[in-house]
Amino acid sequence: MPAAFLPTRSAGLEQLRAALPRLGDYARDRGFDRPDVPTTSRLSPYLQRRLVTEEEVVAAIGVALPWPRAEKFVQEVAWRTYWKGSLEHQPAAWLRYRDALAALRLAPPAGYAEAMAGQTGIEGFDEWARQLVETGWLHNHARMWFASIWIFTLRLPWELGADFFLRHLLDGDAASNTLSWRWVAGLHTPGKTYLARAANIALHTDGRFSPRGLATEAVALTEPPLPRAATPWIEPPRAPASGPVGLWIHPGDLCAEQVSLGEPAPTAVFAAWPESLAGAEGWSEAVTAFGQGALADGAGRAAEALGAPLEVTRGSDLGTAAGIWAQTRGLRTVVALRPATGPWTEVGRTIERALAGVGVTLAWRQRAWDTRLYPHASRGFFPFWTAAKAVIQPG
Ligand SMILES: Cc1cc2nc3c(=O)[nH]c(=O)nc-3n(C[C@H](O)[C@H](O)[C@H](O)COP(=O)(O)OP(=O)(O)OC[C@H]3O[C@@H](n4cnc5c(N)ncnc54)[C@H](O)[C@@H]3O)c2cc1C
Repeated sequence: MPAAFLPTRSAGLEQLRAALPRLGDYARDRGFDRPDVPTTSRLSPYLQRRLVTEEEVVAAIGVALPWPRAEKFVQEVAWRTYWKGSLEHQPAAWLRYRDALAALRLAPPAGYAEAMAGQTGIEGFDEWARQLVETGWLHNHARMWFASIWIFTLRLPWELGADFFLRHLLDGDAASNTLSWRWVAGLHTPGKTYLARAANIALHTDGRFSPRGLATEAVALTEPPLPRAATPWIEPPRAPASGPVGLWIHPGDLCAEQVSLGEPAPTAVFAAWPESLAGAEGWSEAVTAFGQGALADGAGRAAEALGAPLEVTRGSDLGTAAGIWAQTRGLRTVVALRPATGPWTEVGRTIERALAGVGVTLAWRQRAWDTRLYPHASRGFFPFWTAAKAVIQPG
């Protein structure tokens, strides 16, 4: 079983330092799921919340390895940005998933509880279900096999499988998760599915698992076309903000101190854990503890860098809490890194409305990484990668 993840930036940087030596063989080893011998970086819980950023990881491997040996790993990091950018272009994929999930939760199909409990009798699948719940992490290949067996062998709705992942993955990410499940199901690239095969599983688990009775074909799921694509939000040119300015920190980006937030600098920092959202999403205790710890870590660093007082709270009405904080501090503007499409989008809107209600403007900021890369994610990964490489190739 993978070692536990600690929800701090220093633990993430330590994970990166420890991973670099093995990433020289990443292209060869990354397909193998060896729970006790890492073959990948296991940085995803840190990258997902930006306790460590994509830019830092790409820069570090660029120093450690020549480009031909670093490229495969950098390409995988780019997948993360590609999925996020894709969902910015097509937020309807997220909304459709949420609607379907709400209906399915009311009447879950037979076999759903057994699949989550790891009681299907399918070798490998049952162990991955338990590993997910016990550790909050699965290897990429295990996620692909699991999703494929869920959809094509067990014939369960993909939305319930994606939800099972989001409840338990420490790196649970609206874009990577929803769009990867859609990709396995044949919805992201219409008609192109992923079929889990026993021989491939046996090879890449060093013979630990060789499941019998898997589906032998993966007929793509179908759906009505998604609505016309949206244009991703890109930060407009900045005007100086009306001061005093505060900073709202959320778990979508926990290295705010690295980003130029504009003038005047924030004089107060606010971070809030949304208990009602956590309850509605059904995040496991481990996901909640990781999220709360990471939020406290990121908010603490931002406050320290700014020399500003910090208020960390938790509750069900974050809008009201943010409004009271802004009024108490006498703020005119609150700046925040705009959350990517996902559960935090709605929290962002709630806070924006509540602040507007007390006469405070919420000014969204965006990392240059996202500004430069999201516009390229309107089609498939490979056109994205061609454009992205020119932006992010280290050195
Ligand atoms: C069905 C399914 C669901 C998934 N759900 C999530 C999710 O909720 N959150 C999440 O972060 N990843 C998700 N992934 C992508 C991928 O499995 C994980 O990012 C990866 O396994 C994390 O392990 P690692 O950090 O050791 O990755 P490494 O192989 O070391 O890669 C380095 C980093 O690159 C990014 N990355 C690598 N592969 C992918 C990929 N295929 N897609 C997107 N980013 C990638 C991750 O940020 C990762 O930390 C999912 C994949 C599948 C097939």
